[in-house]
This record gives sequence, C-alpha cells and structure tokens, in this order.
Amino acid sequence: MKLILLGPPGAGKGTQAKQLLGLLGIPQISTGDMLRAAIANETALGMEAKEYMDAGKLVPDEVVVGLVKDRISKSDCSSGFMLDGFPRTVPQAEALESALNEDGKKIDNVVLIDVEDDELVGRITGRRSCGACGAIYHLIFSPPPKEDTCACGAGGLIQRADDNEETVRQRLSAYHQQTAPLVDFYRDRGVLKAIDGTKKTPGEVFNKIKYELQLES
Ligand code: ADP
Ligand code: ADP
Repeated sequence: MKLILLGPPGAGKGTQAKQLLGLLGIPQISTGDMLRAAIANETALGMEAKEYMDAGKLVPDEVVVGLVKDRISKSDCSSGFMLDGFPRTVPQAEALESALNEDGKKIDNVVLIDVEDDELVGRITGRRSCGACGAIYHLIFSPPPKEDTCACGAGGLIQRADDNEETVRQRLSAYHQQTAPLVDFYRDRGVLKAIDGTKKTPGEVFNKIKYELQLES
C-alpha cells in the first residue's frame, strides 16, 4: 500500500504512523525526520533547511522532492510506503504523482487527520520525543513512564527546537495556506479518507484509520 498521512502539525501523523508500521510493515518516510537528521549531520542540505525550519516555514520544494524521490526508489519501498509530512504543497504532490506515474504506480490512500488549531498548539508545545528510538510522548496526554526517560530505557527525552508557541503559529499558517489545498487535490483523485481527530484519543483515531483503510480491527 502507498499511503500518505496528511494533516496539520501536531495532528498525530507520527503517532499514527508508528501504530500503522506494526500493522502494515511498510516503511514510514518522514521528511521532518530526514531533514532533522541532515541538520544533525551538518550537511549542506541540512544547513539550508534549518533556517526555514527554525522560522516555521516550509523548506523549498526541490529540496524535499529530491529527498523523497531518492528514498522511495530504495528496495524496501517496493511493496509500499507511508509518507508522513510529505507532500506539503501542490507542486510536491504533482512531483510525487509524476515520479510514481513513470513506474506505473500511484498513491492508494491519503488519510487526513484534521484537528482544530487551538488544540494543536497545546499538543506541539507539550511534545517530547526519545533521542534514541524516536518514540513520541506528550507531557500531559501521553506522558513517559518515568519523567524525562523513554520506555526504551536508552534515551533521554528531547524537545524539538521548532516546537515553541511562536513557531507553531507560523507553521499552522503555512499549513492552511500551502498544504490544505492538498485536501481537494486528493479528494479529486478519489483517494482521500478524512478523519476528525479533534478531542479524540490516539486509540480512537487509530481505530478510525483502520476502519477507513479496511484493516482488521
Ligand atoms: P505530527 O506528526 O502530526 O506533527 P505527533 O504524532 O508528533 O504529530 O503528535 C504531536 C503531539 O501530540 C505529541 O506530543 C503526541 O504525543 C500528541 N498526540 C498525538 N495524538 C494525540 C491525540 N489523539 N490526543 C492528544 N495528543 C496527541
Ligand atoms: P510537524 O508535523 O510537527 O509540522 P515535521 O517534522 O513534519 O513536523 O516538519 C518539521 C519542519 O520540517 C516543517 O515545519 C518544515 O520546515 C520542514 N518540512 C518537513 N516536511 C516538509 C515538506 N514536505 N516540505 C517542506 N518543508 C518540510
């Protein structure tokens, strides 16, 4: 299955992707994670992306499109993949569509997790993740078993540099202006599955996703 997880920052795309991973066994491709890895490795691409990310702006299309095209051509993506945080603009979606078309492939499902802005701000500012295994926590809604320590036992919990209130507002505005048009883009192609994630637990959202994708419950 070739799946896209669409939704505003903090909607729970990463949280749901980790659940789906266990069920579908296809790789999760997070452009945010790839860009953060490039920053950590101090590559030229990472240094360019950092300025945009710190400001809460989208990284230029050609940068992320290049990363994704390269990633989906790897052998572990041959029976499917799950895109988390990509595409985020109509040109990115068009570039993905034509890259897949060249191989006679297409996106099968786009799951939109929609959540109201006011709820997203609290989710993002409370987000913490494990520096070792990448597990996602929330200080209030999904706290770690022991303060500041991941259940994996190997990592301390970190807060992303861009997960502050000021940057979040900018990211939400980028979402509404540049990413929200993808809802119609994928509805027109008959692959959109929209889920209302406002005031729903991660478990409730996961059940809705399984229902929409007709996966066993
Ligand atoms: P995204 O990948 O869409 O930016 P995440 O999966 O990282 O979102 O989730 C953002 C934050 O919200 C995390 O701290 C996560 O623990 C929390 N979270 C995820 N889903 C829910 C939910 N349904 N209700 C409350 N908090 C949630
Ligand atoms: P979130 O879901 O919380 O917004 P991500 O980890 O998906 O977080 O993205 C973090 C940042 O990385 C974005 O604000 C943006 O600057 C950059 N980014 C990630 N994916 C893309 C993309 N597809 N296009 C442009 N910029 C991206």
